[in-house]
This record gives sequence, C-alpha cells and structure tokens, in this order.
Amino acid sequence: MLSAEIIAIGSELLSPNRTDTNSLWLTDQLNRIGIDVKLKTIVGDDDARLEEVIKDAVKRSRVVITTGGLGPTEDDITRKVVARGLGKRLSLDEKVLEEIRERFKSYGMKMPERNSRQAMVIAGAEVLSNPNGSAPGLYLEHDGCAIALLPGPPREMKPMFANHVLPRIENLAGNTRFATRVLRVAGLGESAVDEKIAPIYTKYENPQTTILFNSSEIEIHLRAHGRTEADAEALLDDLSLKIESELGNAAFSFRVETMEEVVGRRLAMTEFTLAVAESCTGGLIAQRLTSVPGSSKYFIEGVVTYSNESKIRLLGVDKKLIKEFGAVSPQVARDMARGVRHKAKTDFGLAVTGIAGPGGGTEEKPVGLVYIALADDAHTEHRKLTLPGDRELVRWRASQAALDMLRRRLI
Ligand code: ATP
Ligand code: MG
Repeated sequence: MLSAEIIAIGSELLSPNRTDTNSLWLTDQLNRIGIDVKLKTIVGDDDARLEEVIKDAVKRSRVVITTGGLGPTEDDITRKVVARGLGKRLSLDEKVLEEIRERFKSYGMKMPERNSRQAMVIAGAEVLSNPNGSAPGLYLEHDGCAIALLPGPPREMKPMFANHVLPRIENLAGNTRFATRVLRVAGLGESAVDEKIAPIYTKYENPQTTILFNSSEIEIHLRAHGRTEADAEALLDDLSLKIESELGNAAFSFRVETMEEVVGRRLAMTEFTLAVAESCTGGLIAQRLTSVPGSSKYFIEGVVTYSNESKIRLLGVDKKLIKEFGAVSPQVARDMARGVRHKAKTDFGLAVTGIAGPGGGTEEKPVGLVYIALADDAHTEHRKLTLPGDRELVRWRASQAALDMLRRRLI
C-alpha cells in the first residue's frame, strides 16, 4: 500500500506548550484517499536534523508532507533545508515576491524586508497560494516522491492541503479506500479480550486489528481497505460480526458510542426510568447519564449520599445494616438501590458504595472495594468489585461497572 509520512517542524512542538495536531488531521485526510501514514516526525528548528529527516523521508515514502517553518523569521528553515536535502537550488521568485508585497499593501502595510525570504522557491517546485497567511506553500516531485511544504498554522495549512495538495495526490493510490470501526468492551480485561478474539483477528491481514485499553474500557479498532468504501465496510462487517459473537454481551458499542449513550438508548427504547444513589462516585454516574441529550426521558434523579446519616435520611437505608455491616457492604448497597428506587418511584434503582482511596482502606475493606447494586420491582442484585487504580480511576471504573450492570439487565 502507498505510504506517506508527515514531518512537523518547529521547536515549540517539542515543548509542552504546543501539540502537533496537523499530523493527525493530515493522517485522516490521507487515509481517506487510500494513502497509509507509516511515520511522523517532529523536528525542532535544527538544520542538520531536518536535513537528515528529509533525505530519509524521500527515500522511503511515496508522499512526504511537512508543516511549519515557512514563516519569515530566522528560525523558519524549511524551504532552505529541504532544498539542500534534495540537492536543489533555491531562488527568489519575483512573481511570488510581488504577490506577498501586494498582500501587505492590501492591509495598508509595507512588506518587511525579511518577508522576501518567503518568495524563495525550490527549483522545480510549484507555488501554492495562501489566502490565509503570508507564507506560500510548495509542491514538487522528486525521484518518484511527492513532496508538499505547508505552513504551520492549521487555518492556513488545512485549506492549502485541500485546495492544492489533495487534487495532486488523490489518484496516486488508485482505487484504495479505507474504512474504520471501533468496538467497545466492558467487564472483561485486556488479556481476556485478546485471548478470546486473537484466534479470529490474527487470521486477517485486512482488516487490521488493534486493541487499546483506556481506564475501564477496551477498544478494538478495525481498519480495512478495499477498492471502494463499500468493499472496505463489507470486510469490517465480516470480521466485526465474528468478534462480536465471540464477545457476546461484553461488546457494548459498535459506533463509538459511550456506555452512557448505550444505556440511555436502551432505557429510552424500553421506556424504563432510573434513579441513582451514589456514594464514592460522588455524582459521576448521574453526570455521565445526564451528559446524553434526551436523558430527561428516563433519568429521574440522582442523589449523592456520602455520609451514613444521609444514606439513612434520604434513602431510608436501615441504620442497623450500616452498624452491623458498614457503609461499604453488599447489604447497604442493596438497601441504597431499593431505597432510591422507592423514593423516586422509578423502574430501576442503581447504587454504588465503596472506598475510592487513597485513605480509608483497611485490611478487611481495602481501597478499591466497591459494591454496586441494581433494584427493580421484583428483585435486587449486587456485585462486589475490587478495582485497581488511583482515586479518579476507581471512581470512573465503579461508574462504568454500575452502568454496565444496568446495560446487561436491559438486554
Ligand atoms: P508563519 O508564517 O505563521 O510563521 P510557519 O509555516 O512558519 O507560519 P510556524 O511558525 O512553524 O509556521 O508555526 C506557526 C504556528 O502554527 C505555531 O505557533 C503553532 O501555533 C501552529 N503550528 C505549527 N505547527 C503545527 C502543528 N504541527 N500542529 C498544530 N499547530 C501547529
Ligand atoms: Mg514561523
């Protein structure tokens, strides 16, 4: 497959102050026309390093796109160094110079002398106009490699790519198109997921499968290529069906939906209502549920009952249960779920109580111990979780497990 690489130029991109977002946008654009991005490099404003990177890039990649360093200042080295790396002359283009002068004039300004360096053009390159800034871009072909030099500011880079680079390279890949899909999984660990599905996906080179882990979700990313987008989608359908049937209920999202969206959709569909009582998650479950537009249809209320006293007063939790088993116990979690359901007169009551840490743990009840409970009119179920991670992670994972318990009940 046709491979491209992106070179982001600028010392500020190596610092914590600025992030290279250009390459992400460009990767997406290139993927759409069937060009695979195999490498990206961030180079500081350093002549020697940039020259090395350029020389290597044109040897190994069919398409090379640089962004940044086209400005008028001393540290804007891209034009000069790319010319040197390719062994090409750099000369002043009178026409480009005139355009830059005109541009300044239209703002009622005189062009600063140093801006004339933006009119330096690499021999054999086409000049790409920049209606959104002073730095024109350059496009050239060299030893079978298509090279584009684009400005750094995204609002200048994007239209220049779309208007001038895309038309020049969009047919390079012939009829290759990409499609991607993300499956999300809850309630199974990373290795458990891989153990189940590796025998399936390793049989496929296309689609390509990547498993990512973030806090308490596993994401399975599939990427396929085909002659048309529909061909690529069909390949995704085939593999994702196999993966989904292996994972069963654990796979909860197929269209980049969040857990709260999936749960919300099911509640809306079934016309059931929900109330939530939270202790260690401090309202996180309610926050996640209400972040979904339309949640007022099914989410009736959420209470944060942090103290024992509030669990008793607001939820009607039995004082004796707290005394006998402690606030973090299956008995209290169940009573919270029943209590909030009863008070709010909903179909479901969901409750969480646990120890998020870092303090508060004991040998018997360590940090990360969380009980979740779900009550409906007929019965109440609970689960004990021992969650790894710091306070934030324990809270997030507890919220995810609670929502997942409800999701599974709704299936
Ligand atoms: P200018 O004429 O504006 O100087 P330039 O081509 O020289 O254009 P840079 O000076 O390298 O561009 O970058 C200008 C600004 O553009 C940076 O401060 C940064 O905010 C943004 N920028 C540069 N490169 C990137 C990148 N890879 N991703 C996101 N933003 C970028
Ligand atoms: Mg600059």
